[in-house]
Amino acid sequence: MSAERPDLPGIPAPPPVGETALRPGTFDGVCVVVTGGGTGLGKAIAAEFARLGASIVIASRKEEHLDAGRHAIEAIGAPVLAVSCDIRDADSVAAMFDAATEQFGMPGVLVNNAAANFPVPAEDMSPNAWRTVIDITLNGTFICAREFGRRHLEAGTPGSIVNIGATFAWTGGPGFAHSSAAKAGVVNLTETLAVEWGPYGIQVNCLVPGLMPHEDMTDDIRGSLDRTHDKDVCQPALRVGQRQELGWAATFLASPYGRFISGHTLVVDGANWQRRSLTNPPVVTVRDQMGLGPFGS
Ligand code: NAP
Repeated sequence: MSAERPDLPGIPAPPPVGETALRPGTFDGVCVVVTGGGTGLGKAIAAEFARLGASIVIASRKEEHLDAGRHAIEAIGAPVLAVSCDIRDADSVAAMFDAATEQFGMPGVLVNNAAANFPVPAEDMSPNAWRTVIDITLNGTFICAREFGRRHLEAGTPGSIVNIGATFAWTGGPGFAHSSAAKAGVVNLTETLAVEWGPYGIQVNCLVPGLMPHEDMTDDIRGSLDRTHDKDVCQPALRVGQRQELGWAATFLASPYGRFISGHTLVVDGANWQRRSLTNPPVVTVRDQMGLGPFGS
């Protein structure tokens, strides 16, 4: 219940972290790779797979993130390997899959969670900023999916890919031109790969979080959030999402119970992206929302 709207119940809070929707052992013997699994939502997704018996591979660049991911999975008591990997680099991704396979056997699930994002008005966005976000979020997702797909095609084994998207993929994302374009590509790629690789037993889905604040959010993203006065009352659910809600959805999509779901984009956002007002609120430019002066000043 939102403190600002005690008269309305909103969508109830979910069960606490630690509960599981699937039966224990659903992922026994399955290796799950989570890119960017040492922070925020990736770490929460990895934890839910770990609780259900998976062996976890955390893949990202920074030592402190790899350590945080490893500790989170160790605390659950699941096998874990943290591998330094830059998803933009095909050789680095191949080496990560080699290390994962050597430790746990061929990964059966890939969660393409790693991404980059920061708010900036389009007119101020440098070509380098544009390229960097596209390179990590879209190209990195493709490179990881390609490596996973090729290995399964060669081995003749099934697998499941869960790409993490964002709702601004189809609404546009004022202040996030690079990231929203990249995520549109991720949703589209999901649909292509699901058809191309379905005959080989590989499911490809996209999972889209709504607003799920967490302590690892970058200062840039946190700054945007801080400009929103109360997060709960700005959502139709009258609350933000909790990380385990995304983790439960990811484990379902990749589980035996979700086998016939492929090429799908599942949104876990309490209907926030569909929100429209009965009356049009005044337009506020991205510059004004970010507290920036006039262009060029
Ligand atoms: P986050 O905390 O900023 O995590 C991003 C992760 O990606 C980090 O662990 C980072 O690790 C990794 N990463 C970045 N560049 C990489 C590279 N080149 N190679 C390998 N790993 C790289 O993000 P988050 O908030 O948890 O979001 C997770 C996913 O959900 C993202 O796809 C995001 O777009 C999506 N999403 C989040 C929200 C939200 O409310 N949080 C809403 C909509 C969508 P290193 O720095 O160690 O490489």
